[in-house]
Amino acid sequence: MPTLRQLLEDAFASDGLDLRLHLIRLPKTDLHAHSLLSPRLEDFDDIVGARVARPPDTFRDFNHFQAYIRSDLVPHMRGPERVFDLIRKALLRMADEGVVYTETSVDVLVPQFLGITVAEFAESLERIRVDMAERITVCFEGGLNREAPLEALSTALEEFLTTDCLGSIDLYGDETIAPPGQFRKLYYRARDHGLKLKAHSGESCGPDLIREALECLEVHAIQHGIRAIEDPHLVDLLASRGTVLNVCPTSNVKLGIVPDLGSHPIAHLIERGVRVTINTDDFTVFGADICDELTNLYEYSHLDVDAIEKVLRTGIEEAPKSVQTKISQSSMQTVKA
Ligand SMILES: [Zn+2]
Repeated sequence: MPTLRQLLEDAFASDGLDLRLHLIRLPKTDLHAHSLLSPRLEDFDDIVGARVARPPDTFRDFNHFQAYIRSDLVPHMRGPERVFDLIRKALLRMADEGVVYTETSVDVLVPQFLGITVAEFAESLERIRVDMAERITVCFEGGLNREAPLEALSTALEEFLTTDCLGSIDLYGDETIAPPGQFRKLYYRARDHGLKLKAHSGESCGPDLIREALECLEVHAIQHGIRAIEDPHLVDLLASRGTVLNVCPTSNVKLGIVPDLGSHPIAHLIERGVRVTINTDDFTVFGADICDELTNLYEYSHLDVDAIEKVLRTGIEEAPKSVQTKISQSSMQTVKA
């Protein structure tokens, strides 16, 4: 039975479509994916019945990126049916490229935006999760937007906590708006319910906010976190704590956080012992799936097969035991050493 290492060597000995077909067969995870920004643009067109405006190739800054989402995508997310169709399409796209486990976020205020109860919303998500279970294991993540009123987030989260719908929470949005410490109480509530704790940090802001997320929110994983590289002591701390950085290189380039894939710090973070995974963030906007990201890591970001194997294994280690067992019993046997 081929090992993951052998499969990766075979994959990178080929190129083009052949490389992609090899990569699709590997068990992969996507632990940083905003579900409503994860379908193909073509699926968006089909669901909304119009051609949605295409994103620019790069954004001037985070505000420019948010303006595109708010003016060109969000207005199409009307009505529960469309929203659930978009989530379903996003998950099907992931399954099609061989993602076996995802932690995919949905803003906790979406039910209110749609005019339905959290219980109704959770019931529909559960139906989607069960329908998809043969192809992909889904952990729905409660997205907490830093820019929303704390009281509204707290109320919505409490309602979600009565449903068993969420497996994790994540703080997202403009990092300059509200520091992580403000959300401490929400994180403790989620922790008491056994949810995995994650937060966006160290993307547009520097290492100090990553430290704050670690100390105040006790997060298990940081979404992005790449600016930790600016503080060697923080890098050591992340490595010693085993904190996972769910990194999205294409997103970082398109938002101007790093100038290009060649100067992305991912290789250095891995060398220094930080647990790193590779993810898509917003496929609808950035257009790179996990297979594309893996190809880019090899071709442009100075990662060799050893480092890419480590990245894939870290993702699988983050998946539930049931997923790991399924992979080890499959024909690939790739989780075994
Ligand atoms: Zn994100």
